[in-house]
Amino acid sequence: MNEILILGAGYTGMAATVALAGRLKGRDDVHITLVNPQTRFTERLRLHQTASGQDLADLQIPEQLAGTGVDFVQGWVTGLDADAMTVRIDDASTLRYDTLVYALGSVADTATVPGVDEFAYTLNSAQDATLLADHLAHLSDGAVVVAGGGLTGVESAAEIAERHPELDVTLLSRQAPGSMMGDKARTRLLAGLERLGVTVRAAVDIVKVMSDGVALDNGEVVAAQAVLWTTGVRVSPIAAAAGLAVDDRGRIVTDESLRSVSHSNVYAVGDAAAIHQGYGVMHGTCQSGIPSALHTAASIVRELKGKQPKAFRFGYVHQPVSLGRNDAVIQFTRADDSPGRFYLAGRFATAYKETVSSSPWTTYRLIKALPALGAATWRRGGRSTR
Ligand SMILES: Cc1cc2nc3c(=O)[nH]c(=O)nc-3n(C[C@H](O)[C@H](O)[C@H](O)COP(=O)(O)OP(=O)(O)OC[C@H]3O[C@@H](n4cnc5c(N)ncnc54)[C@H](O)[C@@H]3O)c2cc1C
Repeated sequence: MNEILILGAGYTGMAATVALAGRLKGRDDVHITLVNPQTRFTERLRLHQTASGQDLADLQIPEQLAGTGVDFVQGWVTGLDADAMTVRIDDASTLRYDTLVYALGSVADTATVPGVDEFAYTLNSAQDATLLADHLAHLSDGAVVVAGGGLTGVESAAEIAERHPELDVTLLSRQAPGSMMGDKARTRLLAGLERLGVTVRAAVDIVKVMSDGVALDNGEVVAAQAVLWTTGVRVSPIAAAAGLAVDDRGRIVTDESLRSVSHSNVYAVGDAAAIHQGYGVMHGTCQSGIPSALHTAASIVRELKGKQPKAFRFGYVHQPVSLGRNDAVIQFTRADDSPGRFYLAGRFATAYKETVSSSPWTTYRLIKALPALGAATWRRGGRSTR
């Protein structure tokens, strides 16, 4: 039996699984297993909504996989032996593979500044986001610091400010929020944050997080009853510990068809992969991750047919940012993610962003019903860069 093992059922692991299951239907010489710590799918794109106290739909992975023949193993990957081609689950059991799809994603990098691990909240999981929501629900007034002016920080600050007008929300960042956007979209983004009452302070460096706020490099202390950390991400150390070739951030370095350059029976997708394109190494987004997963599924199917996998090409399309539930800014981009001429804001952008957030689960359903869709729609990712 040819064993395909997929680690992580986030956006990319799920995409690879449903696409493989659909395309390998009827092949009784291939068996697929998916490993994830929870049965509930984590809508990471919406964790800022969870953090502000909103309930999300209960999307169950085993239900999505019903009838596909995929085995779902609930557990935590604790080790990988790339020579023996086995994976340890919960330090208790072992799964064998012929082909591995590594889709363990990323989490907030809490190791960069002292005190973050002890005192800051993160959006690493639904549980972590719920911890923050519970804490905010018990504050009748006070201040919240959101550290990091990337898109996750902006979305979180906006969402918390909208849901908790009784709290003073400050967004602290080295770079101006929306710095990756064009001037017009960035100006609109900042106006949206101001309308929601978010105080934005850029060009600040946080050097310490404490139980009652954060210390800046100029000696100033910004008092806060809650600190949310969103300044950057790190990946699981499992790939590096197993001896796979990784980049300086621990991401698996892939060849042009998304196989590990050191272990060709390991595919890496999503945030956990360092994928080179003509414009540089892709940064982790759902936008690019799902195409990488669907391409991987297609490549594994080709290999099973004795063919060579094709090169993966991806170009970015947009930078979608929600500003609470009633506003958003969408910067359309060039293939290398640099800002293009057009952006959307307001009502249409809100609807656009909502479509982006809900589309992964809908896409899995569609691919399950119509396996050819996964192959046809996503073969080259969001936009061809050829
Ligand atoms: C608030 C927020 C908003 C975002 N908005 C956008 C957006 O609008 N557009 C966009 O393109 N991107 C957005 N992103 C980024 C996007 O969420 C990530 O790029 C995407 O989730 C990456 O998908 P992934 O499958 O690689 O990882 P994930 O979706 O994080 O999935 C990884 C999975 O692996 C599991 N896992 C991890 N470690 C282990 C282990 N040791 N054992 C077993 N399982 C494990 C996790 O539990 C998880 O289920 C946003 C991120 C955040 C936090």
